[in-house]
Amino acid sequence: MTSRPPSVDSLARSLAHIGLPHPLLVDAARQAIAAGDPQLAEQIANDIAQCLLVPVINATGVIAHTNLGRSPVAHTQTPRAQNLEFDLNTGQRGSRQAGIGQLVARACGAESAMVVNNNAAAVMLVLAALAHDRDVAVSRGESVEIGGGFRVPEVMEQSGARLLDVGTTNRTRLADYRKAIDRKTTDVALVLKVHPSNYRVEGFVEETSVDQLATLGVTVVSDIGSGLLDAACPWLNDGPPSWLNGEPAAKQTLAAGADLVTFSGDKLMGGPQSGFIVGRADLVQACAAHPLARALRPGGLVLASLHNTLLAYLARTAQKDIPFWRMATTSVKELRDRAQAIVQHTGVGQVVDCESLPGAGSAPGITIDSVGLVIDGDHLVALRNYQPPIIARVKDRATMIDLRTVDPTDDAVLIEALKKIH
Ligand SMILES: *Cc1c(COP(=O)(O)O)cnc(C)c1O
Repeated sequence: MTSRPPSVDSLARSLAHIGLPHPLLVDAARQAIAAGDPQLAEQIANDIAQCLLVPVINATGVIAHTNLGRSPVAHTQTPRAQNLEFDLNTGQRGSRQAGIGQLVARACGAESAMVVNNNAAAVMLVLAALAHDRDVAVSRGESVEIGGGFRVPEVMEQSGARLLDVGTTNRTRLADYRKAIDRKTTDVALVLKVHPSNYRVEGFVEETSVDQLATLGVTVVSDIGSGLLDAACPWLNDGPPSWLNGEPAAKQTLAAGADLVTFSGDKLMGGPQSGFIVGRADLVQACAAHPLARALRPGGLVLASLHNTLLAYLARTAQKDIPFWRMATTSVKELRDRAQAIVQHTGVGQVVDCESLPGAGSAPGITIDSVGLVIDGDHLVALRNYQPPIIARVKDRATMIDLRTVDPTDDAVLIEALKKIH
């Protein structure tokens, strides 16, 4: 005699310990029963739970890790209304862009600034607002793909602007832009310079700098990507770290003559996901007035977090208050002390020198000296299944835990997790 399959409801109730709302457990039970194996229900429910967004410990050494939400941000907010679009001076309707725009503009020496949901949106909005049905001159060496899905020719097409290829893949000179602009058949609205954030071309290469482009007499837009506000890093005690060398910064790009600069808020800026358009007030205004601006605007949660981020820059407390910069500038000695303490407490692993990355495609090919733990064998699954999940790397059949990207307050969690894997 074969036993009768359990009812969906009793099977779902037997999964209550997974902690999902009952309807989701019912879905898992149904799927398992339909597949003819009620035993599968627990695995299916666990898979559903694993898809939920939870805080994780980033032990990869990649600070702004694209798969882990880029820059870590601290943000709490009371459940109160917010003067999001209300002017406290006049008591009238205000703009959500006013406060953040003034802070960002001040931080990078721009006349004006606005914010959208990410940098892809910023570039799209600039092109749609300033170059619809017109030509945008881009160097063939900068017609790039950055991250998943940001491809210059495709963004251009979606914006309604026409891509005008200039120069060659490895060398594009000022004269190439001049020729393209002067051609009778072209109608160049702007020159777009795109920083090849996540790769580097070496050898017989030549690009045209922003200060040269500024002599062309057309609007120059520079997509710097990374969101470094000022190359001098006045918010860091010891000034700019050597690993930042060559990374374009908003302030200096504007000073070199760019009319507009676009960048992400969650890379080197260390804020929540967002994108900025900074520069000439009339051009920023044209972007803000375009119908797409409404579709691309961030909400109050993101704006509140961005306010805090920018206030930390202006107050020069960013090194301590913005997790990205705190992690990026933690001394190797401090990391080594923490690693030694963890090994001492757990008896697991060894202290090793390793190399961290700023991440999110910033500063390609550049590493930051770091210290972590190496543990024989591949323990990625056990660490990932720990509560909270710990994300590490495997190298040469050993598990690497880079402490630069682990908040020191999580060392105690690491210690408990490591004790368990042995
Ligand atoms: C990262 C990057 C983008 C895309 O920015 P998102 O904020 O991810 O939309 C675009 N351009 C450059 C140069 C970048 O580095």
